[in-house]
Amino acid sequence: MRLAAVELRRLRLPLRAGGWREVVLVRVETPDGDGWGECAALGEPSYTAEYAAGAQAVLQEWLAPAVLAAGDLDAAGVGPALAGVRGHRMAKAALEMAVLDAELRAAGVPLAARLGATRTEVEAGVVLERAASVGALLDAVAAAVDEGWRRVKLKIGPGWDVEPVRTVRERWPDLTLQVDANGAYGPGDLAVLEALDAFALAMVEQPLAASDLLASATVARRLRTPVCLDEAVTSAAAAEAALALGACSVVNVKPGRVGGYLEAVRVHDTCRAAGVPVWCGGMWETGLARSANLALAALPGFTLPGDLSPPSRYLAADIAAPLRASGGRLAVPTTAGAGAAVDLDSVERATVVVLRVTPE
Ligand code: MG
Repeated sequence: MRLAAVELRRLRLPLRAGGWREVVLVRVETPDGDGWGECAALGEPSYTAEYAAGAQAVLQEWLAPAVLAAGDLDAAGVGPALAGVRGHRMAKAALEMAVLDAELRAAGVPLAARLGATRTEVEAGVVLERAASVGALLDAVAAAVDEGWRRVKLKIGPGWDVEPVRTVRERWPDLTLQVDANGAYGPGDLAVLEALDAFALAMVEQPLAASDLLASATVARRLRTPVCLDEAVTSAAAAEAALALGACSVVNVKPGRVGGYLEAVRVHDTCRAAGVPVWCGGMWETGLARSANLALAALPGFTLPGDLSPPSRYLAADIAAPLRASGGRLAVPTTAGAGAAVDLDSVERATVVVLRVTPE
């Protein structure tokens, strides 16, 4: 299809915990209809180098002009059309998702079918951030267990690791429990990480910095707990390298982090061929991208629960119809398109910047 225009919107959605989720949406206009994509980048460059205003800038100045100049293209052609721009995977993923959405809507095909999904529902878990106290964390875990979640992931870091994990494990001996350090530890922190082996964790996610694959391999050899990589896996090739080095035995797949849903499938395929389980991570998505993530997580290699709980857990306002979970499971969307249908009034209310890029 030939794109007529690319609309970029920066939105501010209120978070339940206070503050905002700033998010960039991409809408492509084609003769066959529109398509919507969502950029995973957060408002600040604190978790990854990419951030919402930066993603909007690279989309406006480089990525949208490149796809508009590419002539006839389909979703698989977006990556090659953007290859001249280094990095900016989350911004590229948003544009690819929008083209994929337009293509799938026009063809009447749901994303799950396009990607090769084999399940109609997926298992999800919840993520609990560092709490004000261990008591507050116990309350949060109790609330999650009462809601029916069977897998709980605790964010950890220096000063908030062994004691909170021990306390939660003592109270819930059978809960599927895992931890995520967001790369907060160094090679000198092996003793702390080894101490976590006592708590029968499903995995420890990204214990060391994303760039430190060799040290991650050392940790993976020393721990009984499986090591999962998140930030370190930016492509299928990066996944292959991490596995070859023995840097992990589980992979968290995030479409934005790897440049889009099509590369996410290639990461899945690489891991599946190596017998390594994957699961779908979360980036505080709106209902638009989280619906698409549910489709991805229905592929056969996604054998572990993902960070796929409904956005209503963290967003006080969304731009799509609420997703519902039951017993920690969510249905895989069956409607045509990449993500959920967006509610245009909700999008308009949350928009702080809107601009349109047209062909030269
Ligand atoms: Mg993570």
